[in-house]
Amino acid sequence: VGDVTTWWCERAWLGGDTVSERVLISVADGRITAVETGAAAPPSARRLRGLVLPGLANAHSHAFHRALRSRTQRDRGSFWTWRDLMYRAASRLDPDGYRRLASAVYAEMALAGITSVGEFHYLHHDVGGTAYADPNEMGQALIAGAADAGVRLTLLDTCYLSSGVDGAPLAPGPQQRFCDGSGEGWAERVEALHHAASSDHVIIGAALHSVRGVPLEHMAPVVEWAEAHQAPLHVHSSEQTAEVDQCLAVHGATPTALLRDAGVLGPRTTAVHATHLTADDLADLDRTATGVCFCPTTERDLGDGIGPAAELLGGRGLFSLGSDSHAVIDLFEEARATELDERLARRERGIIAAERLLGAATLDGQHALGWTDAGTLGVGARADLVAVDLESLRTAGGGATVANVVFAATAADVTDVVVDGRVVVADRRHVGIDDVAGRLGATIAALMDERTGEYAR
Ligand SMILES: [Zn+2]
Repeated sequence: VGDVTTWWCERAWLGGDTVSERVLISVADGRITAVETGAAAPPSARRLRGLVLPGLANAHSHAFHRALRSRTQRDRGSFWTWRDLMYRAASRLDPDGYRRLASAVYAEMALAGITSVGEFHYLHHDVGGTAYADPNEMGQALIAGAADAGVRLTLLDTCYLSSGVDGAPLAPGPQQRFCDGSGEGWAERVEALHHAASSDHVIIGAALHSVRGVPLEHMAPVVEWAEAHQAPLHVHSSEQTAEVDQCLAVHGATPTALLRDAGVLGPRTTAVHATHLTADDLADLDRTATGVCFCPTTERDLGDGIGPAAELLGGRGLFSLGSDSHAVIDLFEEARATELDERLARRERGIIAAERLLGAATLDGQHALGWTDAGTLGVGARADLVAVDLESLRTAGGGATVANVVFAATAADVTDVVVDGRVVVADRRHVGIDDVAGRLGATIAALMDERTGEYAR
């Protein structure tokens, strides 16, 4: 056992609907070894003010979508017009640019209290679809970016082979960068990455892009790889009514039913979005204890719709949250949006308890990403500590309660972040990256066409 660090927290959330006062948390080798409430602060202890939470988990990220923030808000359009701009941004990225952008985006997440990120990664190959010398060079760029930012990474390496539910091939151009040719081709590449990159802070997980992106016959190698490695398996599902309608037309089944029949559902699986579900879909997800990941700020940005949060929270699967397209990176906003959207849909208040929403942002998210030893402030857990200011412009007067954090705090109220016992954010500053905003601005500007200031066509 190495050095023991002791943290004295003015207040901490140890679970449930209450907040504990004067909490002493001992940490050795990145793990919590003791938790004592009502404790005096020993002179040697490091102090954390405000309310200390377990690490937040961003269970669904596409790092490069951060380059689209606010640039897609001008024109009328839909998910599909947004996607065209996203493809143009994708076509500009090389491994160096991807690493620089990812390190800045993950540092923005660290500053928001996020200690684990699930990166749904499909930008695998060079422009035109040619493999890099190391076919996992782009994945390694994300891994390096997460290390720069000091956060854990679950690289949900994504199989993405087709452009429609009917199995139509990916279009020439940017989409070719996603394609491994077959499910077997995907598994071969990812097996090499698993051997090269797995560590105490990197999990290689699996993902199926969607029922649009992976023809049924190519799903089995992905499911089998995840099973063999007991790895998380994520899949975009039922985000758009058009996707559901196409799936019904081609297969006579909803996306959830199709995934069920392909053996995709289960407790290690997370269906991302799960917006448009039938009663049978809900029963399938519950029976198989399949998790879901809601991304409310993206779902509202893209006009997707409102998913059945309360029904899913009542089921057996994990309920995690993600910032997905990064229109906003703020897990408190994702958590409260889950309840506030439900209020709009039902014209009724107080449906999901604040502590359940915070549990989604912490424990459920960490577990959905395979970090089953994270997400609580308990003995044996990874020592992730996130201090939230209770005396800011937003939170002052709201009380030392879970509700104040969930319904009033923003990412800007996170003051200090410890990941696996290491200080990553201190007094609202990232300890490894001086000027995160400057790096975001510079890396995104570098993707633009120099003449027009827009993404090149
Ligand atoms: Zn997504």
